[in-house]
Amino acid sequence: MAQDGAQDGARNATQSTKGLRDSLGQNSHGWDLHCHTVFSDGTFSPTDLIRMASGQGLAGVAISDHDTIAGWSEAKEASARYGVPLIRGTEITAQHDHGRVSVHVLAYLYDCENAHVLGLYEEMRQRRLERARAMVEKLSADYPISWASVMEQVHEGDATTVGRPHIADALVAAGVYETRSDAFAGIISTKSPYYIPVFSPRVATVVRALKDAGGVVVLAHSGAPSRNRSLLTDEDIEFFACQCGLDGLEVWHRDNPPEQRDRLLGLAQRFDLLVTGGSDWHGAGKPNVLGENTTDEPTVQEIIRRGRIRVLP
Ligand SMILES: [Zn+2]
Ligand SMILES: [Zn+2]
Repeated sequence: MAQDGAQDGARNATQSTKGLRDSLGQNSHGWDLHCHTVFSDGTFSPTDLIRMASGQGLAGVAISDHDTIAGWSEAKEASARYGVPLIRGTEITAQHDHGRVSVHVLAYLYDCENAHVLGLYEEMRQRRLERARAMVEKLSADYPISWASVMEQVHEGDATTVGRPHIADALVAAGVYETRSDAFAGIISTKSPYYIPVFSPRVATVVRALKDAGGVVVLAHSGAPSRNRSLLTDEDIEFFACQCGLDGLEVWHRDNPPEQRDRLLGLAQRFDLLVTGGSDWHGAGKPNVLGENTTDEPTVQEIIRRGRIRVLP
């Protein structure tokens, strides 16, 4: 895909939807910009991620653990050791319209010393931990799990963002379910009587905070009906793009069905947004395969150009 020249960098909105579809997406050796490790709910270390990306010949990867930067330093070392280009990022849980829509926000290449962002993460992690404890207490009345058995599923101690995936893994270890996905479809689903909602900041707050920290900010899998009863509307996305500084939309993600991909591509074109892709790899925690969806090189170069910190190594 040709760059658009000096005036507008590699802004995808200048390209046709068809052009985007032809040049992005699945099975290319592009960049996988959505990967989780043991620092949130993935099952492999950042070093494993980098080693596997090298083995697969990916152009590069982004580490994007939930609400944390704890995996960045290990990923940085591994990037240098294996010579795999690395974008440091985070996937931040947010909500819109008083919790009507749960939204995941991917932020790349931002200043990780920004006090506002770090404070936001700390509050979220604390509230998430309290919520997990409360859910486990409810569940332990009827199922053979305990807080200790959940903590056995946490690989990096205090550095891990503890959440429902670890409760799911404890239920699997106790033989209640066969897989983490089964647990998510069962007693820890949002419809379960054992479910307790978790505090999340507003999308607008998160996007603005990460933009202030110099990040490049993308809405993850925002056309995924399996994740939400209602999705962000076109007007919501227009607001984030035009009023909050949103940079892009993750279109190439397995949870966005074809009609939603078309809708998101149209919105990206209308509001001059970058179009990204990622696998949402969690190792053995989910069926998603590393590199199953990727982002093309011109888009990645534009992300690198906009970000406050540099791509590694
Ligand atoms: Zn997500
Ligand atoms: Zn994710």
